[in-house]
Amino acid sequence: MNLIDVDGLNVHYGDLQVLWDLSLEVRDDDSVVTIVGPNGAGKTTLLKTLSGILTPTSGRVEVLGADVTSIAASDIVDRGFVHVSEERNLFGDLSVEANLRMGSYTKRETFEENRDMVFEMFPVLEDRRDKNASTLSGGEQQMLAIGRGLMAEPEVLALDEPSNALAPQLAEQVFRTIEEISDDVTVVLVEQHVDKALGLADRGYLLENGRIETEGTGRELLESEAVREGYLRG
Ligand code: ATP
Repeated sequence: MNLIDVDGLNVHYGDLQVLWDLSLEVRDDDSVVTIVGPNGAGKTTLLKTLSGILTPTSGRVEVLGADVTSIAASDIVDRGFVHVSEERNLFGDLSVEANLRMGSYTKRETFEENRDMVFEMFPVLEDRRDKNASTLSGGEQQMLAIGRGLMAEPEVLALDEPSNALAPQLAEQVFRTIEEISDDVTVVLVEQHVDKALGLADRGYLLENGRIETEGTGRELLESEAVREGYLRG
């Protein structure tokens, strides 16, 4: 069974159709599946549909064996699919540690163990554990958002543009982290840094105007004309 199975997905915002007959899969043995495409292609819409925030017009969307249209978004988290949104949605006036606690609401009994694992991965968060999240730098906030996602012990972690607005060095650190995480957790990665993100990927999809234009292994996509011409120029 695949971790994620999407077949013939159509999604609208009112009259505006954003995803068109989209099919994709995340397999059991995938470590990283990357979705690339220009602004407005529908990548965030796809992730929101997988996490049950948006209801599709039609199509089949199965995440970890459940039809996402028939269960609550919180049940999808419970089953092991966690989505770290582009906005990060941290609680700015709560401490780093309290934000991690918010991420562990489905796994309260293993909070301390998971928190220590996150601190080991991101030592800077341990240094700032009592500071309000709003006082962290952009890079640290991204680490916290990823760390909070990990607190729910996901089987699949979806990251929406985790390197967005980060200086190159911090973006580099985020990619190293993703590589590390992907030893244990399958990562669905939406990214603007196409070369890095496809470099990490077992498989990838190029989304344009709400449709899958090209799919293949990370390497096949990197070498494909569509990606080279559209995204890697310069
Ligand atoms: P970006 O990289 O800019 O985040 P994206 O590939 O994630 O782009 P989406 O955010 O999914 O794309 O947007 C796809 C299309 O849907 C765009 O045309 C966008 O304007 C539109 N859209 C997104 N959210 C809404 C909304 N809440 N209501 C109406 N239209 C929306």
